[in-house]
Amino acid sequence: MGATTIVTRFAPSPTGHLHLGHAHSAIFAWRKAREAAGRFLLRIEDIDPVRCRPDFAAAILEDLAWLGLDWDGEVRVQSAHLPDYRAALDALSARGLLYPCFCTRADIAREIAASASAPHGPDGPLYPGTCRRLSAGERAARIARGEPHALRLDMAAALATLGGPLTFHEEGEGRLRCDPAQFGDAVLARKDVPASYHLCVTHDDALQGVTLVTRGEDLKPATDLHRLLQHLMGWPEPRYAHHGLLTDASGRRLAKRDRAATLREMRAAGTTPQEARRMAGFPEA
Ligand code: GLU
Repeated sequence: MGATTIVTRFAPSPTGHLHLGHAHSAIFAWRKAREAAGRFLLRIEDIDPVRCRPDFAAAILEDLAWLGLDWDGEVRVQSAHLPDYRAALDALSARGLLYPCFCTRADIAREIAASASAPHGPDGPLYPGTCRRLSAGERAARIARGEPHALRLDMAAALATLGGPLTFHEEGEGRLRCDPAQFGDAVLARKDVPASYHLCVTHDDALQGVTLVTRGEDLKPATDLHRLLQHLMGWPEPRYAHHGLLTDASGRRLAKRDRAATLREMRAAGTTPQEARRMAGFPEA
């Protein structure tokens, strides 16, 4: 494999069955790799034990194979690698870039309601920084008492490590400027799960040698934070290609929460893989 081999991936969260929007995303990534004689990887992003189900993960593999997609190597299943994410968190903690946050959602909402401004980022209202101000002694005591806590990135400390502007390369657009501060002190490990989407996705893209991250444009803002994590961890910088989101005839986005037909419902109703690929925007795939 040459140094310039393109490696792409499809990284769904098994919280439901795949629909045409997922098919679009999967075929987009698969074609980018296959057209360049590169590698296409499949990763199951299932760190959330409440929302993710193994039967959905199994169904994803089956539906992709039905669509006619093949992937290279083993499927990485994130829930089987929690110690990897813990090691990354430990490395950030050792440099003073994380702090424990004991706040409940209600605590945060109360604090925000009481403050004059409530800035929002791509993941919702910004954390007001309550636990950033705890003393080392108080943190240690609360951890020793077994108080549940998340781990947050100290954004100001993280930004202070940058020597210059942070950018990423978007296919067709060139270099774009990142603004990770819009996320505030982002959660990198949740209370209930010892990791978070932002940490796991950047960790795994680096570990698996992904050179071109493809995903829906709804996740484009997250790239700003991902580039910061790559900088902090010394992980390589991939290129990015964010694709438009598939919409239905009335222009509504096909999302999991909508009642868009799933690939298996379409299949049961007699749709062929070729028709499904066409409906997913790839008539020639
Ligand atoms: N797992 C994420 C999702 O379900 C996508 C991750 C990514 O492509 O960055 O939407």
